[in-house]
Amino acid sequence: MDVLGYGTFDATSRLGPIVFNQPEAREGEVEIEITHCGVCHSDLHQARNDWGNTVWPCIPGHEIVGIVRKTGPGVTAYKEGDRVGVGCMINSCQSCGPCEAHDEQYCEGPVSATLTYNGTKIPSGVNTYGGYTETIVVREEFVLRIPDAIDSAAAAPILCAGITVYAPMKEFGLKPGHTVAVAGVGGLGHMAVQIAKALGATVVAFSRSEKKRAEILEMGADKVVDPTDEDAMEAEAGSVDLMINTIPVPFDIAPYLSLMRHDGRLQIVGNMIELEAFSPGPMVFNRITIGGSLIGGIKDTQEVLDLCAEHGIAPAIQMIGIDDVNDALDSLEQGGIGHFRHVIDMRSLRDSRESMSQNASRAEEPVRFQPEAG
Ligand SMILES: [Zn+2]
Ligand SMILES: [Zn+2]
Repeated sequence: MDVLGYGTFDATSRLGPIVFNQPEAREGEVEIEITHCGVCHSDLHQARNDWGNTVWPCIPGHEIVGIVRKTGPGVTAYKEGDRVGVGCMINSCQSCGPCEAHDEQYCEGPVSATLTYNGTKIPSGVNTYGGYTETIVVREEFVLRIPDAIDSAAAAPILCAGITVYAPMKEFGLKPGHTVAVAGVGGLGHMAVQIAKALGATVVAFSRSEKKRAEILEMGADKVVDPTDEDAMEAEAGSVDLMINTIPVPFDIAPYLSLMRHDGRLQIVGNMIELEAFSPGPMVFNRITIGGSLIGGIKDTQEVLDLCAEHGIAPAIQMIGIDDVNDALDSLEQGGIGHFRHVIDMRSLRDSRESMSQNASRAEEPVRFQPEAG
């Protein structure tokens, strides 16, 4: 069937309407009418080809919430009308070590996990298109259930930002009594503060922004420390069990290392950054590890959705229409949106399809495209 999406054919153009053919739900697959899609920094990187691997056209979006419209044969977990979500992956081998451990994002199968966009569909070899579309078809194992207590718009960012900070907490075994440091309180960090608090940890947030301080305390942080204040940093030395570091630009890790307690772990999540040279002395003397973590598995994603529902945790969001998505990406690029996440009300895309058919001269004409195996 023909579906309308919003994407780009090169790294410099603005996103615009694209019509492409999407196969209907087959065995084990679920067709979802998308109602909401979050705008993630990765969407910007992929659309701008910042990682040099973009397959064109690129239709981003991996914080997807919608309603099940059809199910293929053999689907048992979902039925028409269910409110569901799709995060960063839509497939994996399901049988390698990481997949068996519910860490599908690290799939070591014949090919890696299939990303929701800019991934390669198995077995067709066709590129994947993300949530800036009317519908998406996903195998049921990669579909999440949205708890009743969470609003669809608020659920969207949990599917990427929420799970990205929850997974390293889970892996660490975070529990009451632990102290978590959150460095960088943006889209990821503001979720980390709330989730760590819900897990019973003491939360210390590190932010230079004086005007954000009250907001961060309101999110549940026990303390906010300015990382450029040497005395304040000294006072926190050796106190942190787990640091979730979301700082998206190159930074000096040395002051953060000195905060870590014996056996502490400093986890780097989010955008890929380069660390400045640092002395490993504090790591050696306190058996501190510096680690990385990529999104999270499907089981953990369901867990964090349920946890957010149980504790009333919600990301700070700003709703936009599909026509605003280029401006939203521009503002992400300029780094000016703080911890807010833009969420696209996808009804606006369906409305734009209607205005196209009613008044073709006014609306932007969609580019028709036939996906083929690469
Ligand atoms: Zn993302
Ligand atoms: Zn696998």
